[in-house]
Amino acid sequence: MIKNILNNKKYLFLIILCLSLTSIYLLYRIQTKTINETESTEMQNIPIQTIPTVHHEIDLNVQIPIFMYHYIEIVKDKNDTIRQTLAISPSIFELQIQTLLKNGYTFIMAKDIGKALNGTLKLPQKPFLLTFDDGHWDLDTDVLPILKKYNIKATAYIISGFIGRSDFLSQKQLDDVVKSGLIEIGVHTVHHVSLKGKLQPIVQMEVAQSKKTLEDLTHIPIVSFAYPNGSFDDLTLSEVNQAGFQTAVSTIPGITVTQNNKFFLYRVRPGNRTGEALITYLKNIKDKKTN
Ligand SMILES: [Zn+2]
Repeated sequence: MIKNILNNKKYLFLIILCLSLTSIYLLYRIQTKTINETESTEMQNIPIQTIPTVHHEIDLNVQIPIFMYHYIEIVKDKNDTIRQTLAISPSIFELQIQTLLKNGYTFIMAKDIGKALNGTLKLPQKPFLLTFDDGHWDLDTDVLPILKKYNIKATAYIISGFIGRSDFLSQKQLDDVVKSGLIEIGVHTVHHVSLKGKLQPIVQMEVAQSKKTLEDLTHIPIVSFAYPNGSFDDLTLSEVNQAGFQTAVSTIPGITVTQNNKFFLYRVRPGNRTGEALITYLKNIKDKKTN
């Protein structure tokens, strides 16, 4: 009978076809199993810290006025013209705060913008950021009392290498500011160096070392950066990103915050405007075209 079947070409063809299909099926099963096991093994072998954090980058496009201040004080030396230009008296500063509160603004910190950009915080209706550059002593003696009076937040960008120098915050004053919980400490490099055009090791040191020093001093993660003199280039942006900052402020005038400009957020100077003049000024801020 077998001989008959083998002699019949039709049967032979069917047998070969069945054997081929069975082989293909078995091969498919083996291969699929191997792929699955390989994947699960690789996942188990990845150290937990190398699994990238899932950031939900939000398609944010929001208007956040960011005011840039340097000195809030009454300048005693009338011949110090640079300081006269950069300083705002505490009473004018307080009037500005009153104006902004009356107009429904809510004060946030720079790190809140970082959180909003990665989807972990919802910003208030009319967010507003007050920033103070350099870390002068008046941050503790003049700014902090006014922020405390109105219970409002701000961000100060500190030059890490200048702490304790005359004209700058002492370590004790810095502790005072940190303890208040109202002022976020950001970084403004180690030596207040204009970073545009500098060699990579210099940029990296100024950006990363200042972060580390301030983290060691404050025991708080530092995530916000400000460019000295608003000076940066592509290398600077990359180093700021790599060092782990979430945002950086520039001196480019404007008001809009998006994912695209998170490392060169726009800022404006309020001058001595208060009341209606300040509100009109805010309404007329336009983003400077950067490219
Ligand atoms: Zn500065």
